[in-house]
Amino acid sequence: MALVETLGVEKQFGTNHVLKGIDFSVERGQVVSIIGRSGSGKSTFLRTLNGLESIDGGSIQIDGQHIDPRHGDLRALRLKVGMVFQQYNLFPHLTAGENVALAQTVVKKTPRREAQAQAAKMLERVGLGDKFGSYPEQLSGGQQQRVAIARALAMEPTVLLCDEITSALDPELVGEVLGVVESLAREHMTLIMVTHEMRFARAVSDKVVFMHQGRVWESGTPEAIFDRPSTVELRRFIQ
Ligand code: ADP
Ligand code: MG
Repeated sequence: MALVETLGVEKQFGTNHVLKGIDFSVERGQVVSIIGRSGSGKSTFLRTLNGLESIDGGSIQIDGQHIDPRHGDLRALRLKVGMVFQQYNLFPHLTAGENVALAQTVVKKTPRREAQAQAAKMLERVGLGDKFGSYPEQLSGGQQQRVAIARALAMEPTVLLCDEITSALDPELVGEVLGVVESLAREHMTLIMVTHEMRFARAVSDKVVFMHQGRVWESGTPEAIFDRPSTVELRRFIQ
């Protein structure tokens, strides 16, 4: 059974019908990229997967559990599904280490010392083993984003969602963040990412999903999507 499976997910904001029946699945250990124009519903869809957005129809199943954000227990969902955003949103008054440790102590009630050890390990994993005591303002954008990734990883999520996590970065800092994502992919972390980095998506993804006007317009292997697009909308988009 797929680790993440959605059937007919619907979402409306007032009269704006944003998700029009999204069928989507990800196997354990897969890397799936979601591409598409601005406004096609990519972020909204990602947010439904961790309960940040309620749905108006359809179903979402993650790791064998039905998620019903209409009445569901979102705590269990949020423990399983980590998310990294375009804006890293670190607490400026906390060190990198404290930022990474915080959610574990608050949400999982992990003892402080244990959480700090886990934080140190996760900072190591994103190549920031020497930045535990640094404050966000002392770090570059790329380093801050890597702290945000470490923070998500520290919760040991079953699946990690990344929403355009390099879009706010200066071009010279994009590579170090993509490098971390690539290493997670190699370690078979289940990843769902919205990205504009087409070359990267092509290189690391098992599957690419093209969203258009609130629908999954096309999906397939990177080769199928980028070399043999079957719709005019996708052809236009990747040109
Ligand atoms: P994408 O990430 O593909 O650019 P979004 O999911 O952000 O697309 O947006 C899809 C549509 O949903 C847009 O028309 C956007 O204006 C609308 N939308 C997104 N979030 C909200 C919200 N919280 N309230 C109202 N409309 C929203
Ligand atoms: Mg978006």
